[in-house]
Amino acid sequence: MAKTKYIFVTGGVTSSLGKGIISASLAKLLQARGFSVTIQKLDPYINIDPGTLNPYEHGECYVTEDGVETDLDLGHYERFSNVPTSRDNNITTGQIYKTVIEKERKGEYLGSTVQVIPHITDEIKYRVKLLGNKGNYDIVITEIGGTVGDIESLPYIEAVRQMRWEMGNSCLVIHLTLVPYLAAAQELKTKPTQHSVKTMLEQGVQPDIIVCRTERPLNEGLKSKIALFCNVEVNSVIESIDAETIYDVPLLMQKEKLDLVVLKKLQLPTETEADLVKWEEFLYKFKHPSSEVTIGLVGKYVELKDAYKSISESFIHAGTVNDCRVNVKMIHSEILEEHGVEEYLKDLDGILVAPGFGIRGIEGKIMAIKYARENKIPFLGICLGMQCAVIEFARNVLGLDKANSTEFNTKTPFPVIDMMEEQKMISGLGGTMRLGKYKCTITPGTKAFSIYNHREIEERHRHRYEFNNKFSDRFTKAGMIQSGINSQGELVEIVEIPGHPWFVGVQFHPEYKSTVANPHPVFVNFVDAAKKFSHLRSEHEIDAKTSEKASTTE
Ligand code: GLN
Repeated sequence: MAKTKYIFVTGGVTSSLGKGIISASLAKLLQARGFSVTIQKLDPYINIDPGTLNPYEHGECYVTEDGVETDLDLGHYERFSNVPTSRDNNITTGQIYKTVIEKERKGEYLGSTVQVIPHITDEIKYRVKLLGNKGNYDIVITEIGGTVGDIESLPYIEAVRQMRWEMGNSCLVIHLTLVPYLAAAQELKTKPTQHSVKTMLEQGVQPDIIVCRTERPLNEGLKSKIALFCNVEVNSVIESIDAETIYDVPLLMQKEKLDLVVLKKLQLPTETEADLVKWEEFLYKFKHPSSEVTIGLVGKYVELKDAYKSISESFIHAGTVNDCRVNVKMIHSEILEEHGVEEYLKDLDGILVAPGFGIRGIEGKIMAIKYARENKIPFLGICLGMQCAVIEFARNVLGLDKANSTEFNTKTPFPVIDMMEEQKMISGLGGTMRLGKYKCTITPGTKAFSIYNHREIEERHRHRYEFNNKFSDRFTKAGMIQSGINSQGELVEIVEIPGHPWFVGVQFHPEYKSTVANPHPVFVNFVDAAKKFSHLRSEHEIDAKTSEKASTTE
């Protein structure tokens, strides 16, 4: 195809309407019609990336293959489209200003006054077009974070206005708004949408398509009203009704013909229908599981639903492969420290100890791991979870009771987890961890090998500390082996306990790579182990009941 087309997705009325899911769903539909599509997120905050933000501020931090800490929406993009994103897919105001200021310092503006327009807006436009030029995509979808009317998103909307003007029908704007239902009036209300579109018009942008988030169906009358007041065609008013799962949204958008309207406006071919057979199969299996398991997710941000987003989505993908609903029970590690583990963990079919930073809640995580190890409950430790598994084993099996990570105790006599050499000289926090894709070699005959069925794998990382190889032999002899190693740096990537039915710790983050089309083997295998464990337990319970009965009737 000749030229890349650009679609902008803006949001109005409130935040959290799901621009990311709408963008990812549209990408999925266009991709299913044969177009190559990528999605980009422009975040109007001043941080260079969300890596330095805590999860209370910004939910999970997602990591791309090329090692960039990004917005969690990129996770949705990858899970829906199955295409990896990169550093070019997430741009923040901080990055834009940093580049412009650095250029100014080098004298690249040749003495002119550096201003928001044109310098900042030019940099924004350059970053949007870069993706189209570099990736050779048919379509680039750019989601603009925040809500129209925010002061900080003004330069972005101005950049959209300019691109729209320069590119004509190679560029279009989708505006996502809310149509609230007022119970007292028993009516859906279009006024907030009208106001939101007016705000865009004040900034010089006329949306081409309006997607309306709503709890109830919009009737034709309402659609016509929105069309009339917001200067769009009736078929360009798209209903986006609350869905049972985010994975329903591509199908709902297809029913509303969002993809068709977009293609017509961009003057792209519409003959090939979207092939969503695989997606529909996935949804059917997800909604009709024949079994269920409960997996405890032990972490410290359990009240934040977005803090472990990629992990919970990975369980959805893996559950579907296993024909099984995975109930994820969030367990606060500090509660375990206070109340003990038994009550919280005894009914679980699997235990996952989450990634994280800092000492808060560490002892609770270690207690949960001890319980999983001793009771032979399937266990998966991710990043910090793997490090805690190593500490637990050192303390309770090797007898090194003061063993720790130097992240939590720099003076520990047994630093079984220690800072990586290359990290010791680094002082800044932003973007300085071991980040992104690294190769790992797996030992044949191990659990890790049976999971991946490959010797060489690649997984994404986000950490500063690692397994301390000085202790390798002691661990191996006592029954915790290192089954995956980064061949360049000799870094331990996977540990496991062969004497346990399923006990695996991974230094990397498998959750960043799980997609609908490619559920991650670590999660798929873990859920399978949880299913087996649940079976075994119910058989045990039945046996115990029958023998109890037999002994009372004797
Ligand atoms: N805090 C640990 C480290 O930096 C683990 C990080 C993580 O779980 N992502 O190594």
